Amino acid sequence: MKNRDHSLKLEGLVAAQSRLSAGHSILPVLAANRFSVEAGIGGEERVAEVLRKHSFSFNHHIFHDLSPSSNEKFQMDTVSLTPWYGVVLEVKNIGGVLEFKDNPPQLIRTKDDGHKDGFESPVVQLERNRDLLTDWLHCRNIRLPIYGAVVLAYPKQIVAVPPINTKLLFPNLIPSFIRGLPQQGKKLELDTFQWLSAELLQSHQPFIPKPISEAYGIPLKDFKPGVRCGSCGRIGMLKLPRTWFCPFCEATDHLAHERNLREWFLIFKRTITNRECREFLGIDDIQLAKRILTSMDLQSTGTFRNKTYVIKLSDVSKKGNIIIRQ
Ligand SMILES: [Zn+2]
Repeated sequence: MKNRDHSLKLEGLVAAQSRLSAGHSILPVLAANRFSVEAGIGGEERVAEVLRKHSFSFNHHIFHDLSPSSNEKFQMDTVSLTPWYGVVLEVKNIGGVLEFKDNPPQLIRTKDDGHKDGFESPVVQLERNRDLLTDWLHCRNIRLPIYGAVVLAYPKQIVAVPPINTKLLFPNLIPSFIRGLPQQGKKLELDTFQWLSAELLQSHQPFIPKPISEAYGIPLKDFKPGVRCGSCGRIGMLKLPRTWFCPFCEATDHLAHERNLREWFLIFKRTITNRECREFLGIDDIQLAKRILTSMDLQSTGTFRNKTYVIKLSDVSKKGNIIIRQ
């Protein structure tokens, strides 16, 4: 029913890294976070791949990366829905030797060099998601048992102490786990099942991260302005009539401003003014900046000099990635 959303967080991190000067003190932090976001996506992709290849003999719907709107925000890595029950999977990719402690709930990881780190227990996250999904269903007058499991995405994760009451799975064990759950009690009518799946999909709210400068407290002036070339990845495209030209690789791209303004919204802030647009894209012409901003289907507030444009990133998160070569 639903694939993982395009990660705006990763897109923002990649773009921010390449606009900071080499040696900037925040770069190692961004690199570490990018690595963990990529590992997370890789783990979720492994799970998706297993489920894509498997065909179940009964009605079922799979949702990846689902955040149904409710009073409390929640995000589930994978949800499987059948007419008898739902299954919530929490996917983890923390490498090393893992100990799941129950009291208090905590995950302790020991690396090869003996170094130990503590993490919030995935069991707690899983139970919270199960509770919130159950509530979400109750609000729609649906009562279904919701099962759950923690999935360890990579075999390099070695479990020394498993959690007491929670199922741990590797990705290839997921289909048999889902198949093995009891199909008893009152099942949903087919049209209710279809309606419920559509309702879950409809209620999904994509995750919109804070701009990188705000999330990491990086001054705006630290980021290099300019238009990045989609072909060679370098910053410094020049505006020609009706197009942009890259002096490094001689590529032209009449829509280069769109990709680059997306970078602005992911790195700098959610809004932009005409002056900021000119400074960022490296153009002098107020009318040109106005035409560019108006062409991008942004919401605007204020008038004349005070006019500010705002992007709706929830639409963007469903579209493809910008490509940044480094
Ligand atoms: Zn180029």
